[in-house]
Amino acid sequence: MVASRSARERKAGVEAGPLARVVVDVDRTTAFVYKISCTTCTAKGDKAWSAYRLGGDNGYLAAMDRWTFHLVEKHPGTEAPCLTYLADAQQRLHERREG
Ligand SMILES: [Zn+2]
Repeated sequence: MVASRSARERKAGVEAGPLARVVVDVDRTTAFVYKISCTTCTAKGDKAWSAYRLGGDNGYLAAMDRWTFHLVEKHPGTEAPCLTYLADAQQRLHERREG
């Protein structure tokens, strides 16, 4: 059975750790869109920093990878389950850059 939107939201929220706020939306193609924002960082114009990329890949892995890099870069020393997969995230980033 496919996990519900709210169940996915809870699971991703646990993975992303205490600094993250996770919202899962369903887009027009009924794909799940992960929006992970930071509770302490603000981007341009007072908006919270977010891993969401308009028109980009916002599936679970892509969003969680961006969030993982944000934690490493801006919040060193923070503990979050997703950091367990940092090496995998770096490998995926490398593969995307290679094309
Ligand atoms: Zn942050």
